[in-house]
Amino acid sequence: MPVKHLQDRVYEASITDPESFWTKQAEQIHWHKKPTNALSKSKKVLKNGVTHDHWSWFPGGEISTTYNCINRHVEQGNGDKVAIYWDSPVTGSKEKYTYNQLLQEVEALAGVLREEGVQKGDVVLIYMPMIPSALFAMLAVAHLGAVHAVVFGGFSPAALAQRMEASRPRAVMTASCGIEGTKDPLGYKELIEEAIHKSSFKPDKTIIWQREQMRWGPVERENGQRDWQRLVKSAKNRGLKAGVVPVKSEDGLYIIYTSGTTGLPKGVLRTAGGHAVGLNLSMKYLFGIHGPGDVMFTASDIGWVVGHSFIMYAPLLAGATTVLFEGKPIGTPDARTFWRIVEEYKVTSMFTAPTALRAIRREDGDNHYFENVYGERGGLRTLRGLFLAGERSEPSIVQMYQKLLTRHCAGGAVVVDNWWSSESGSPISGIALSAAAGEDFDSSYRHRPLAIKAGSAGKAMPGFDVRIVDDEGNEVERGNMGNIVMGMPLAPTAFTTLWEDDERFYKGYLKRFDGKWIDTGDAGVIDEDGYVSIMSRADDVINVAAHRFSTGAIEQAITTHPDIAEAAVVGIPDQLKGHLPFAFVTLSLRQHPNPAVADETLVKEVQKLIREQIGAIASLGGIIQGKGMIPKTRSGKTLRRVLRELVENAAHGEFDNDITVPSTIEDRDAVEVAKAKVKEYFRVKGHGLHKATEARPKL
Ligand code: AMP
Repeated sequence: MPVKHLQDRVYEASITDPESFWTKQAEQIHWHKKPTNALSKSKKVLKNGVTHDHWSWFPGGEISTTYNCINRHVEQGNGDKVAIYWDSPVTGSKEKYTYNQLLQEVEALAGVLREEGVQKGDVVLIYMPMIPSALFAMLAVAHLGAVHAVVFGGFSPAALAQRMEASRPRAVMTASCGIEGTKDPLGYKELIEEAIHKSSFKPDKTIIWQREQMRWGPVERENGQRDWQRLVKSAKNRGLKAGVVPVKSEDGLYIIYTSGTTGLPKGVLRTAGGHAVGLNLSMKYLFGIHGPGDVMFTASDIGWVVGHSFIMYAPLLAGATTVLFEGKPIGTPDARTFWRIVEEYKVTSMFTAPTALRAIRREDGDNHYFENVYGERGGLRTLRGLFLAGERSEPSIVQMYQKLLTRHCAGGAVVVDNWWSSESGSPISGIALSAAAGEDFDSSYRHRPLAIKAGSAGKAMPGFDVRIVDDEGNEVERGNMGNIVMGMPLAPTAFTTLWEDDERFYKGYLKRFDGKWIDTGDAGVIDEDGYVSIMSRADDVINVAAHRFSTGAIEQAITTHPDIAEAAVVGIPDQLKGHLPFAFVTLSLRQHPNPAVADETLVKEVQKLIREQIGAIASLGGIIQGKGMIPKTRSGKTLRRVLRELVENAAHGEFDNDITVPSTIEDRDAVEVAKAKVKEYFRVKGHGLHKATEARPKL
């Protein structure tokens, strides 16, 4: 029998004996009151009489997440270590905060919030740009034992109002403006006021951080508006501070609304105890961030779960340093920014979405900045891992960056695709960079991580029992594609219900498989070695003549073409086969060709790649080429549903219908560009359900 790899042993221990595995993990965290045990299982009975499995982590425990994130490190003598670097190319500012300074800021702000009426268990809605006070806000709320609900700064008033009604916040914490890349500052005053006007629930207070780039007009005290800086200054002058308020393990730390590419947003409830324990493990074990001296750079947004976990909570739980970045992968000022940050702050682990790397590849196709500017002078030597999540990473991008890391970063540095969701709170699968998973395991700091398989998101992480099942919920054989589900309980960072909505939790995640599995909504494969590949959302699986194809697999084949930087595949209705895959592609040329219809050579080459890598049956029903036409969410996910709606309409000869665009969209203009491209394409190629079929042989 070959000796099992450490990651396999750790995983097995977490699944076979969760009680002792997680009890050991819980010892890494400070408890105001120790839990009686790690896991308790029960049954939940819903109003309609349905019963399902329920579980809770660390019952009987009391914990303060901020105590673990800040006070603990100060008390251990690490108060002068840097907790946060803020780097904002959009405003030309940089700041740094030690753990001592962070504690001062958080205690004062928590004091302010208490004076403004926020109490343990209250919800506070945070609508902020990527500035340090956004992190202070989240921490101050948690410090009081209250619950934060962070909404992406810049969301529309309607989306914000929806979240206000759902979470009923006592207060809103916001800023005078946000700055998105190279765009002008976006004033938040009107957005917030309109949202409050629209919402049937009205928060008592709006606390406003004034930014010098655009101020919030008059701060209307009579409407509950308060000047944040003034309140904090006054608190500091008066020596006003709030101490930590511990909460029960099962109490909420925060609510996060899922990215909502469809339907009404769901409020995922994160519980305090499981979150701290699970995230602490994930930070050290998977990301290799252990404590002082380690620097995490997560290029994400605090409105997204990745931002909650890996910009803020996890690096601080570990006592490490985090880089908060207000900028974009390109345009602020160019494709060098990420690598400049790695060099400047000696980043040891970096985390971003594959879409950011694709953007960099489009701008800097020969990796000049990575290689010739920062790499060659040894500026990237501290980097041990480049973590990617949010959507599927195609092998070509993983392989390209793996080569770059091997040449220019720390010895053994790896690119790690890891898969997770708002619901899971931490990666469900990945490749562990370090061996720190408790005393019983070989805790030598460096171990050889499992081999990376480009295209797979690694193996299941501790506590996540990942399976692939058919539509009846029966497990399929290894290597076959199916629905990705998880057995219960989920790992401690994951949700156990939705915010005040047990019914929707059951309906959304358990009902499909009769309470046997938690449905992730993703489709994919687990191979012989246990590596998980996430191929697409289950809704994006395309049925071509009774064969199921994932958009991810087809996109992957298309992007092996050297001239194609990005592809998004959706199904188009076809009279013969039900659906055909249809691709939107962006070429990696500085001068992108204008016509929507790609030239014939390119089309032939792409069809050949698909034939070779997937099979002739997956041949495309068409290709549209264009720049800036693939809409994304702010967390970097391709909004295939929008593109699908466009081509479905086009197949019926309808080009000007309104498209439902989710509030999470990053760039609304992309929808208009795509609409125009679709119109142009079908004007040339002919449209209609029948014609779309006819157009196919011409390709
Ligand atoms: P969110 O809750 O907004 O974080 O979205 C979660 C969804 O993002 C997952 O269910 C997947 O569909 C997708 N996702 C996240 N990480 C990955 C990954 N590494 N590979 C493929 N899809 C991913």
